[in-house]
Amino acid sequence: MVHRRPLIAGNWKMFKTCPEAVETAKQLLKRVAKTTDVDIMIAPPFTALAQVSDVVKGTCISVGAQNLFWEAEGAYTGEISSSMLVSAGCRYVIVGHSERRQYFNETDESVNWKLKSSLKNGLIPVMCVGESEKEREAEETFSVLDKQVKNGLEDFSADDLKVLVVAYEPVWAIGTGKTATAEQAQEVHEFLRAMLEKKFGNTLAKTTRILYGGSVKPNNIAELMSMPDVDGALVGGASLDPETFSKIIQFQNRT
Ligand code: PEP
Repeated sequence: MVHRRPLIAGNWKMFKTCPEAVETAKQLLKRVAKTTDVDIMIAPPFTALAQVSDVVKGTCISVGAQNLFWEAEGAYTGEISSSMLVSAGCRYVIVGHSERRQYFNETDESVNWKLKSSLKNGLIPVMCVGESEKEREAEETFSVLDKQVKNGLEDFSADDLKVLVVAYEPVWAIGTGKTATAEQAQEVHEFLRAMLEKKFGNTLAKTTRILYGGSVKPNNIAELMSMPDVDGALVGGASLDPETFSKIIQFQNRT
């Protein structure tokens, strides 16, 4: 059986000024510095990336960005490229978060371009997919995910995607306090892994980490992580508080 190293990632969204982000990173580091069995990523706002990277440099915590623009450089006011993120200390980047799809016209096509740019520049992309409540109720979950994954990963080979991380984030569970049950998450993760296998072969399917995201908290992480195809979590609200997030990171000690 292939061992997939768990990844617990925190998406801070549009929260925290530079001093607040630095302080949160320091407080988190104090609590998780000895972690060896889980990869940890935090995604502060763009403005705090470089400072937070300095705080966690050489530790078990990596830094990720919440978005990027696919062009290398140019007259694109307000946008940030992959190489800029790398120079600010990023190792990861979140691509296609449902809030970007919902509020900023992110499409599967732009997700595809962003994945290409991030992989080309050595960033690990965390590609987010997930259905809305309406789509789940209409029993369209699998067809929605099928389209998001197929279009998002168009033109790639298995070799290109070795570091890809997928995050299943049912839109109805994000920031709502409604978590998918561990069984619901497992059912979708299994489906996503089968899709990867069909499109890119067994090796990529077996090694790709698939995270669950949607109201993950210290009291539900262990159950979610007990599922065979759940390889970690993308955490929003509960990642803002270092004490709470450290409890999620240390989920093994809570079973
Ligand atoms: C997210 O923003 O990716 C997320 C899962 O948020 P929350 O944990 O707050 O539901």
